[in-house]
Amino acid sequence: MLISDISENRLKKGNLKKEEIISLLNAEKNDINRLMSLANSKRENNFITYSKNIFIPLTEICRNSCGYCTFKKESNDPEAIILKNKKDIIDELKFSEQYDCKEALFTFGEQADEKEIVKSALMEKGFSSMVEYHYDICQTTLDQTDLLPHTNAGVLSYEDMKTLKEVNVSMGMMLENSSPRLRLMEAHKNSPGKDPNLRIKTIADAGKLKIPFTTGILIGIGETKEEIADSLLTIKNLHDKYGHIQEIIIQNFRSKPGIPMENNPEPSILDMIRTVSVAKLLFSDVSIQVPPNLNHETNQIFLLCGADDWGGISPVSKDYVNPEAPWPEIEYMDNLTRDTGLDLKERLAIYDKYINNDFLNEDILNKTIKLKNKLE
Ligand code: SF4
Repeated sequence: MLISDISENRLKKGNLKKEEIISLLNAEKNDINRLMSLANSKRENNFITYSKNIFIPLTEICRNSCGYCTFKKESNDPEAIILKNKKDIIDELKFSEQYDCKEALFTFGEQADEKEIVKSALMEKGFSSMVEYHYDICQTTLDQTDLLPHTNAGVLSYEDMKTLKEVNVSMGMMLENSSPRLRLMEAHKNSPGKDPNLRIKTIADAGKLKIPFTTGILIGIGETKEEIADSLLTIKNLHDKYGHIQEIIIQNFRSKPGIPMENNPEPSILDMIRTVSVAKLLFSDVSIQVPPNLNHETNQIFLLCGADDWGGISPVSKDYVNPEAPWPEIEYMDNLTRDTGLDLKERLAIYDKYINNDFLNEDILNKTIKLKNKLE
């Protein structure tokens, strides 16, 4: 099927059938140009946004062992962060305020408190679970700094998300892929938390709880084009139902020395272009993000196929999930962006349309509005 075989109206509305999405994900020659240009025309404005953040890993212990991971550390690794101290966290947050950071990005290994070493460290501090400890950290962040917490802790229960919603402006978790087949492959064969049903439930629970949510897919972990189409449609169905997806990350697998998937091929630039373009066609009201530190040489091309967000960029911390890939400087990203005829604009960890009573409690709403006014 060629682009010309797809109804103009459905292309414009992003109301695409699965077989049409698969065709677009396989687009060749002139159809690639047309796909990019259609996706780029969906842009609502000329801004490419980013959030100035500090990245804090509360623990590097995780119940999963993904084939591409460079974040998780083993309990017996003397360098592993078992449980970061509250005082150290608050000191780092205050330091980041000097650099005008506005987002406290808390990421930690999934269900780390299943491991004895983390459980003991929590008990020593008087907490019974990671969520209980993290709630306290987020509350202190709100009380003692101007930063807004955003949490990515993988699969969480409805009750845990309800608890964390009180002290977070937004949360996130990559769907990665909706196919259960990938649980049998190198990427996810040792990761019970990568069961797509658990992840879909977490995203749906965030919708029920009205939590502004970031999710996305991972390209190049052994998935087929059909599975990419299914994954994007799964996110679309959730967003159509709950209206809570604020951004979708299209992340490319990067091969790194020492990981189990070290010898797996990375996705091609054309596959990334096709996927980013299709995502923008499907989600005209949701930001599409491609992580800039994973695409140093090819960043600009994604702006020409509708990507409109660089995600979090930190002037003070490394990307613990991709420690080999330093964040680019904000000034550098500004130049890259302007070179494509677009403008760089800072945003908060919560997108503007979610800054209201529907999604935030009064305390966080007031704090968020205050910070937003500072940005303008
Ligand atoms: S990628 Fe995330 S979920 Fe998988 S092992 Fe690493 S930290 Fe855990």
